Amino acid sequence: MSKPLAPPATIAFIGLGMMGKPMAARLLGAGYTLRVYDQSQQAMSDFVGANPGAIATASAKACAQGADALIAMLPDGKIVRRALLEGADAAAEGLSTEAILIDMSSSAPVGTVELSKELAVRGLSMIDAPVSGGVRRAIDGSLAIIAGGSAEHVERCKPLLQSMGKTVFHTGAIGAGHAVKALNNYLSATSLLSMCEAMIVGEKFGVDPGMLVDVFNSSSGMSNSTQAKGRQFIVPRNYAAGFTMALMAKDLRTAADLAEQLDVEVPTMTEMAKIWARAAEKVGLSADHTAIHKFLEGK
Ligand code: NAD
Repeated sequence: MSKPLAPPATIAFIGLGMMGKPMAARLLGAGYTLRVYDQSQQAMSDFVGANPGAIATASAKACAQGADALIAMLPDGKIVRRALLEGADAAAEGLSTEAILIDMSSSAPVGTVELSKELAVRGLSMIDAPVSGGVRRAIDGSLAIIAGGSAEHVERCKPLLQSMGKTVFHTGAIGAGHAVKALNNYLSATSLLSMCEAMIVGEKFGVDPGMLVDVFNSSSGMSNSTQAKGRQFIVPRNYAAGFTMALMAKDLRTAADLAEQLDVEVPTMTEMAKIWARAAEKVGLSADHTAIHKFLEGK
């Protein structure tokens, strides 16, 4: 087995958005050599300005050069595929066959299996390792990391993953991390939407929405949504959790598509994917996902 990816191994990191920025900063803090790339110049200069020591690069290919591992933290699997394989500046053009791709984006599992096969033809290996926990847990390095791939590859990446997350689950073969992540976000989206509906009904009856959340948090209705989103983002209506409507709607679509591909009938999941797609259209793709509350209120 190749040796574990411990510091000061060189990591190429593509995608310095809400999650990528704090995750890449953790790697630098842990002592890895960090090469970064984002298609947004602003994201690049913000990151390099705040994290001296990070090496800015001009393309995905340049970022990948000399790296022991390449992490993608991009919006979805189609974009990951494009960044890896399409065009002369694609990352795979610069990646050594000793290196490993770690797709930490929430990508669609079937696409991930296909991508791993295309990479294998070029002698390249990959794991999927999406995350859960949001921006707050990306900053403090306590993300849940949900990996799929061969045991050998996941083991090799563990020191790297552990510098960004508290728990690393190995959920199965390639794509299994992405499948579990989509299913997790289905539960998360469903509990958030249910809490918002309950708050709207309760408020109309005259109950203070903050009081409602406090009761849920001490009762059987408790969930991550009631604990981490109710008082923080819904009651004050600031809708600022740091995860967009577009990304949540994409995750719901991913879960519903997976069920369809597996020929499983899941009426609630199917309906959730439709409601979140409508909400994203209505409140805007870049709105925060907690604005599902605004959508349900009809405002
Ligand atoms: P984001 O939109 O904030 O960041 C994405 C970044 O990728 C942007 O900086 C963008 O410029 C860059 N980018 C897009 N296409 C590119 C390309 N072809 N080449 C280089 N850079 C490119 O997204 P995010 O919130 O950081 O989420 C990233 C992934 O993590 C998504 O798959 C999302 O579903 C998942 N995720 C997000 C959260 C969250 O709370 N935000 C939590 C868990 C998982």
